[in-house]
Amino acid sequence: MAFVPASQLSGPKPAISSSTQFSGLRRSCFKLEHSPSSTQSFFHQIDSHLRFSSARRSCRGVVSMAGSGKEERDLVDFGKMILLAQSDYFFVGGNWKCNGTKDSISKLVSDLNSAKLEADVDVVVSPPFVYIDQVKNSLTDRIEISAQNSWVGKGGAFTGEISVEQLKDIGCKWVILGHSERRHVIGEDDQFIGKKAAYALTQNLKVIACIGEKLDERETGKTFDVCFQQMKAFAGRLLLLIDVSSLVDYIVTNMVVNWDDVVIAYEPVWAIGTGKVATPQQAQEVHVAVRDWIKKNVSAEVASKTRIIYGGSVNGSNCAELAKEEDIDGFLVGGASLKGPEFATIVNAVTSKKVAA
Ligand code: PEP
Repeated sequence: MAFVPASQLSGPKPAISSSTQFSGLRRSCFKLEHSPSSTQSFFHQIDSHLRFSSARRSCRGVVSMAGSGKEERDLVDFGKMILLAQSDYFFVGGNWKCNGTKDSISKLVSDLNSAKLEADVDVVVSPPFVYIDQVKNSLTDRIEISAQNSWVGKGGAFTGEISVEQLKDIGCKWVILGHSERRHVIGEDDQFIGKKAAYALTQNLKVIACIGEKLDERETGKTFDVCFQQMKAFAGRLLLLIDVSSLVDYIVTNMVVNWDDVVIAYEPVWAIGTGKVATPQQAQEVHVAVRDWIKKNVSAEVASKTRIIYGGSVNGSNCAELAKEEDIDGFLVGGASLKGPEFATIVNAVTSKKVAA
């Protein structure tokens, strides 16, 4: 959840005009409880109110904190803040990895600029660092830009690293963290990845948090254990931030961040770049388990609103069937995101979700 001063709010996404408008992923409704006005309960109220508002998945956009009760007026007076409600949009990210040249990226951008993309999808592409500026300067604003990695803390004497501050400076809104190639090729561990996510979130860089099991882990029945362990590393850090939110100064000066700025990408390692896609049932099963884990370990509200996307050999032919599964809220796409028209097909797989809903 991001507290955002009114002056920093960006404009709304394009209006949804389709008659088959997608009405949201899952819905839940929570009531704001009016409780005693001790300092502690006051902050509890802030947290509750934010969760209440953000859990209303059908309500994308800006939600004022103004209300009729005294506590609600206090909240407005206190923070002079408004909050961004969680998106209930489908989410599709394209991870270009270490691919491309100036020329090939220019062609890809031009294909994406001319593609027709369904309105109710958040679309993000993740070019290699060195081409981010080129993409930012040529790609339609309809598509946001993600980095493929970020440094774990503030920039400085860290040769070869790219800081969150620098990514924000060049217009990145997102960063992919915990990708299997960073875990298993580069050797990043859960704790390091969790710290990176926490730092990015404190700087308002949104996080695509990747989890997923290796083939041997699946074959030995450890899929859920591995995914939950990876979730714990992300969530542990986020919960720490939420705890800190009980400090007045922290709320006002640092803008509390949490799950609204996080998309979970379930990417079984055995499916990444192999052409061996998980079946819709296999993916759905893990998405349900991860959502349940979030419910038990964070809250029902966060479980309901957090988008869990699938990645691993998604392409233009298999995306529609996967998208029909209730808990698949979008995709993270590698190879197929390098082809503009095919990536657009995957973005537009949201239409099969509308039909299935
Ligand atoms: C990825 O790298 O995140 C990915 C899902 O790759 P691919 O689609 O090529 O399997």
